[in-house]
Amino acid sequence: MENTINWSELSFGYMKTDYNIRCYYRNGKWGELEISSAETINVHISSTCLHYGQEAFEGLKAFRGKDGRIRIFRLGDNARRLQESSRGIMMAEMPTDKFEEAVLTAVRLNERFVPPYGSGASLYIRPLLLGLGALIGVKPADEYVFIVFVSPVGPYFKTGFKPAPVCIMRNYDRAAPLGTGNIKVGGNYAASLVAGSKAQAGGYAAVLYLDPKEKRFLDECGPANFFAIRENTYITPASNSILPSITNKSLIQLAEDMGLTVERRPIPVAELESFEEAAECGTAAVITPISRIDDLDENRSYVYSKDGNPGVTCEKLYRTLSAVQTGDLADNYGWVTVL
Ligand SMILES: *Cc1c(COP(=O)(O)O)cnc(C)c1O
Repeated sequence: MENTINWSELSFGYMKTDYNIRCYYRNGKWGELEISSAETINVHISSTCLHYGQEAFEGLKAFRGKDGRIRIFRLGDNARRLQESSRGIMMAEMPTDKFEEAVLTAVRLNERFVPPYGSGASLYIRPLLLGLGALIGVKPADEYVFIVFVSPVGPYFKTGFKPAPVCIMRNYDRAAPLGTGNIKVGGNYAASLVAGSKAQAGGYAAVLYLDPKEKRFLDECGPANFFAIRENTYITPASNSILPSITNKSLIQLAEDMGLTVERRPIPVAELESFEEAAECGTAAVITPISRIDDLDENRSYVYSKDGNPGVTCEKLYRTLSAVQTGDLADNYGWVTVL
């Protein structure tokens, strides 16, 4: 089949590819990986994933290098994070080697959908784990399906790497203080839809959530972690209710390599005033610089970009991480799996 994809026009959305992978857990063990070209699954109407949110997911990317080879970023870290999510909501754990094999197979079989080097586009990989079976009572499922599908996605920033505004709203939380904020489960996303759409209606890229217990500290930005730069220091929240972002973990390492000091600690809202740069980070966009934070309850604004350009440190971190992902810079930490 010939490729007729216009890589430069891709958005961050779903596109049908040739194959996806499924693997079932039944009678206490995982079965063989199955290759499918169907876009639907057949699940029992009483499945726990449908009623009780027993569902977790991952998100990672494959990039085409200058050498034409395909590189997958931090595959093992995503496998381990899905296992943590699984423990958090009592699902069967997908072993790391099987997770990796499923992702590698999905990418290989859909190789024609991996965008070319230099297009800014990449192949988004979405692993899913769902609780199945005929249950009505609230308890963990006996059966699970693990799925990996892929979709080519365009550069997150159509108009270039540009800062966007976010807002603080104290009357919404995405997660409870000792709830599921630290695992990648669908329920956190459902819980964030109302606040997210309100923010978008107000012209904001995201909500910057505060810690759900005291509303004193910064948590994270909906589906992305928060970090700030001040006096050659990379500052990012420590909190039980945020998701440990693999992008953030990577940026922390690169920031240290660049000679920045790294602080991971509770960040009081009052500290927003002192930051030179602020940003969101995650797989989808790598870094989204924050132009301005509007605290809608306190009627205050914190401005980090007046001229519409990202700060120098955000820009440097973004370029460095992107270059490691595409293979332009050395992979010093074994983050990249080359196909
Ligand atoms: C996935 C996710 C992130 C970003 O994690 P990455 O591993 O960097 O993609 C941040 N916050 C939440 C709530 C997430 O679900």
